[in-house]
Amino acid sequence: MTERQELWLLLGILYLAECFRWVRRGSWVFRRLYGSRWSAQPASEFIGNDRGDLHWAWPFPLFGDLIVARGLPWCVGPEGVATWHPVTRHPNGRTLQAAGFRRWEEVREVQLEGEKIFVANELWWVADSQVEAQRLASALKRWAELPAKQREAALRIELRDSFDVAAVRARIATTTPELGLTRQIASGLWCVLFFLLPLAIWRQGWFPALPLGLIAVYGLGGWIAWRTVRLHQTWYPRATAERLRVRLLCWCSPLTAIRAADLVGRNRVESFDPLAVALALLPGPRTAAVAGSWVRDSWFPRLPENPFPHGTPAANTVTWFTSLYQEIGTEALKTAGIDAEALRRPPAATEACHTQYCARCQAQYLAIASSCQACNGRPLYPLVPVK
Ligand SMILES: [Zn+2]
Repeated sequence: MTERQELWLLLGILYLAECFRWVRRGSWVFRRLYGSRWSAQPASEFIGNDRGDLHWAWPFPLFGDLIVARGLPWCVGPEGVATWHPVTRHPNGRTLQAAGFRRWEEVREVQLEGEKIFVANELWWVADSQVEAQRLASALKRWAELPAKQREAALRIELRDSFDVAAVRARIATTTPELGLTRQIASGLWCVLFFLLPLAIWRQGWFPALPLGLIAVYGLGGWIAWRTVRLHQTWYPRATAERLRVRLLCWCSPLTAIRAADLVGRNRVESFDPLAVALALLPGPRTAAVAGSWVRDSWFPRLPENPFPHGTPAANTVTWFTSLYQEIGTEALKTAGIDAEALRRPPAATEACHTQYCARCQAQYLAIASSCQACNGRPLYPLVPVK
């Protein structure tokens, strides 16, 4: 292999690395190929650990779209806020973090350090992006400053807004065309960098192909950086630190500039609950599967259901939020024509020897089994017998 081929092989490998995104557990990634339907990815198909998963995006920028939805990652209630959520959302469990609790009186000092949120000088949460960290830190401050009597109503409104399926559709409908031109310029840059420039160097030598190629590469990269920063300013006006990073990365690295649409676009529905995004974007059969998974995960979560001692403010907060979360999610399903109660009914046994099942993962068991180990020891329920 010549030095020139080795150089472009290295560029290709670096570019492929730009096509992957690390997403913390609890978020769902939604991906689609241009012109096709969306699909939901609660977990990576390839690499992940106890904290998160590595998700991929389509390498040619014009071909695909990728968004991340998290919604509210904590339990909030009239008494305080807990780093716990009623649903696991990830097939292998919650992200590796000890459950913490703070009363609202203690949530006075909220600081941001990149993606990290500190409450009362202690690390509270690590977000996926500075956009998400900014949103969550602002919400914490806002709720903590509210008078106690108004807080409960505000929390209900906030959670209801995160299940607004029509708002998700509207957000995607308005933002996707705005990203279109950025994707087209990025596709042009991709063609110049990986096709036209190597071809010109091969035919004419390093000079004059390289100077002209670099002018084209950095010209297109600058155009992408300008558009990306403008969109970032419009969509996430408070995330100034991240905007500076996006600006520098897109200006300095043509490889990052090619992925700019994903960089700025992936957070555009992150404030919505993954169920709401699924109801808004997925086609019928996929929606039914996601709804079934959400219902089972909400009513029969992976144990423990509540990590705090019974009767404490922390435990009360988890109980209060879980009930509200189930109520609002069920309303969203009902509006979409899905009966949540029907999804909770026991299935029929697939074999005559199966008499019990796990209501969360739907695994069926013999009479000798006492619990589902895959769901951390969830108790089993009787199956509908085979007729
Ligand atoms: Zn199970």
